[in-house]
Amino acid sequence: MNVLEGFESEAQAWGISLADRYDLETLCRPSLKPLEKFTAEDHADFEFRSHVAEVLMFAGLTGKAARYLDCARKGVVLRCQGHEQHEFLSPMYCDLRFCPRCAPRRFARLYAKHSAVLGHIHRHPIRGFRLRGITLTSRNTGELTTEQIKKFNKDVKKTLHLLMKGVKGWGAIWVNEVGFNNTNLHTHVLMYSPYVEKEKLKAIWQKVSGHVVAGIRQSQLIGPKALLYMLKYVSKPPSDDPEMVGRLEVAFHGTRRVHALGLFYDFAGGDEDNLQSEWKNCPLCGAALVREKGICSVQELRARALRFISGVRTERRKNKCVNV
Ligand SMILES: [Zn+2]
Ligand SMILES: [Zn+2]
Repeated sequence: MNVLEGFESEAQAWGISLADRYDLETLCRPSLKPLEKFTAEDHADFEFRSHVAEVLMFAGLTGKAARYLDCARKGVVLRCQGHEQHEFLSPMYCDLRFCPRCAPRRFARLYAKHSAVLGHIHRHPIRGFRLRGITLTSRNTGELTTEQIKKFNKDVKKTLHLLMKGVKGWGAIWVNEVGFNNTNLHTHVLMYSPYVEKEKLKAIWQKVSGHVVAGIRQSQLIGPKALLYMLKYVSKPPSDDPEMVGRLEVAFHGTRRVHALGLFYDFAGGDEDNLQSEWKNCPLCGAALVREKGICSVQELRARALRFISGVRTERRKNKCVNV
């Protein structure tokens, strides 16, 4: 039986919440942050995460529930193969889409990945083409299911293909979004294309999806800013209610939230949602990194004076500024 499932049944048997059961564990497991060191913020974060984890477990996503609960609490040691054998602490993140800690990290990675195409557009502009923002909206049914999300994205893809029929060199990227604390599924598309008539867009969207609302505007922001504007939707979970966050994770399980077509797809190399985030090279000397065996609590690793691998880049950037 999975450890977490064990906790859940014990919590039930003992008549306490999962959060309390987990708290009890910190008392007897030295690898977790001791309860007496928990701050009010830690407790709030813990309550929130426990609630989300319960929703995930109820939907059968036990692995994700465990990852979400443990996000950045445990870590591994990465050692470089270079002469100096640099050592780093790399926390294990859950990388769930709606984790308040991981969402900004996803945003930064997605931006780094997709901004390359903008450089290309800048260097090789096509006459009459512009970056345009399109919004496609679906009817709010009061619930959000995986099938609904998949169908919605299929419809977006079909609509854009129909709209750009016969056009060469176009590209689009879109992000699924829901309204704050509701189930209103819609999408923001950033498209590089010739002029698009709003009426034509509306007619195609209605025919393909059955939904009526579609909007278009020429992006007032140019280049990287237009992409930043669109990707900002992934940087923050669209809810402060753990029940809702859990339900969103369940609905988006097995689907992608960021999609690309044409030029944007070519530059994304097939992994538009960018789920892979592993450090491969030493940020100090560039040598290959090897992961040491074993998983420890982040507290323990920090006590060994290991530095966070993600902090090294920031350190270097700061030093550079001072030297210039
Ligand atoms: Zn996380
Ligand atoms: Zn190194």
